[in-house]
Amino acid sequence: MNIHEWQAKELLAAHGVAIPRGGLPADAVEASAIAESFGGRAVVKAQIHAGGRGKGGGVKLAENPAEAAAWFDRMMGMTLVTPQTGPKGRVVRAVYLSEAVAIDRELYLSLLVDRGSSRVALLASTEGGMEIEQVAAEAPQKLFRLAIDPATGIGPHHARDVAAALGFHGEVFRQFQVFLLNVYNLFIKNDCSLVEINPLVVTKSGELLALDAKISLDDNAMARHPELAIYRDPHEESPEEVEASRYGLNFIKLDGTIGCMVNGAGLAMATMDIIKLCGGEPANFLDVGGGASEEAVKNAFGIILRDRAVKAVLVNIFGGIVRCDLVARGIIKAAREMDIHVPVVVRLEGTNADEGRHLLAESGLDLRVAEDLGAAARIVVASIA
Ligand code: GDP
Ligand code: MN
Repeated sequence: MNIHEWQAKELLAAHGVAIPRGGLPADAVEASAIAESFGGRAVVKAQIHAGGRGKGGGVKLAENPAEAAAWFDRMMGMTLVTPQTGPKGRVVRAVYLSEAVAIDRELYLSLLVDRGSSRVALLASTEGGMEIEQVAAEAPQKLFRLAIDPATGIGPHHARDVAAALGFHGEVFRQFQVFLLNVYNLFIKNDCSLVEINPLVVTKSGELLALDAKISLDDNAMARHPELAIYRDPHEESPEEVEASRYGLNFIKLDGTIGCMVNGAGLAMATMDIIKLCGGEPANFLDVGGGASEEAVKNAFGIILRDRAVKAVLVNIFGGIVRCDLVARGIIKAAREMDIHVPVVVRLEGTNADEGRHLLAESGLDLRVAEDLGAAARIVVASIA
């Protein structure tokens, strides 16, 4: 789960990481008052889950409170297009005000989970403000990497190495030691998958500040952090994924044309593999879970069919805990209530599979029931060829 800059900064501040003063105004009057409290000047920043806002007109310097109010009004509700949003852009639903600071140096710092090495990867660069992918591609020698073993955690030697790479000395170096330790603790305590500070700045008065921040939280760890649930912004997620999570289903959008309704992540992987083996491409996969009810199957069907990229649907259910006859009833109910405009191929195996297949065959609906997974994949791929 990604969160907004203002939320990331709230987390940073709560962990003792230095950020510029900021505020989230509800209207232009409040925007003006917040700028006033900063001494007049403020950076007005559109809050969307995408970077590159500066380039797209989503970061503006206001010289006085009236300008801050005007930028607030302009940005609120606008569709912001940046190099990271895609051509459709994102609607701005919150605007953050940050105290304008005089920047001496812009740097880059991030922590992320490196699954390959089971370490926390730290990336740092003197090229702050730029996208790190660009630095990696054009000036890889300017990208400093460090692996931190989560079992032993971060130590002063790590801070010294990073500080040397970023050219920090004296007072700024001392600030950085505390800064890095706090960022690391935030990362670990909140089960983050990414904390990216870009730019990390040294101000003209020698202060180290996180000027922009992007944080991704591990969805699988959200149960351990109920207090972070308020940071979820459904507007920034795909509508299908939001709807699926409302029903306790897992939906993942992909790029192909075959919708997949499956129970269990492992079976979903196998289903996608075999679809690809037969020359097709999955449009999505929807995991109805181990104990799928008739109602869940119906909802799942609705979500898959609403995806306009779907040209055919493959239902692949192994009845271990779930009963195939219940799944069949869910499919039939969905098919009767919805206008199904694409071929549907069903493969049922396991508990009450015969009864499920029988129900489907007797339903009078235009569904293809396949003998096994290989046949199901071949039929569904052929149906859109
Ligand atoms: P992004 O484009 O979405 O990554 O948004 P950022 O928050 O990183 O802002 C983009 C750029 O705006 C930064 O790299 C800075 O150069 C500039 N900027 C942001 N805040 C300030 C500020 O308080 N003072 C100054 N002088 N520049 C700022
Ligand atoms: Mn940035």
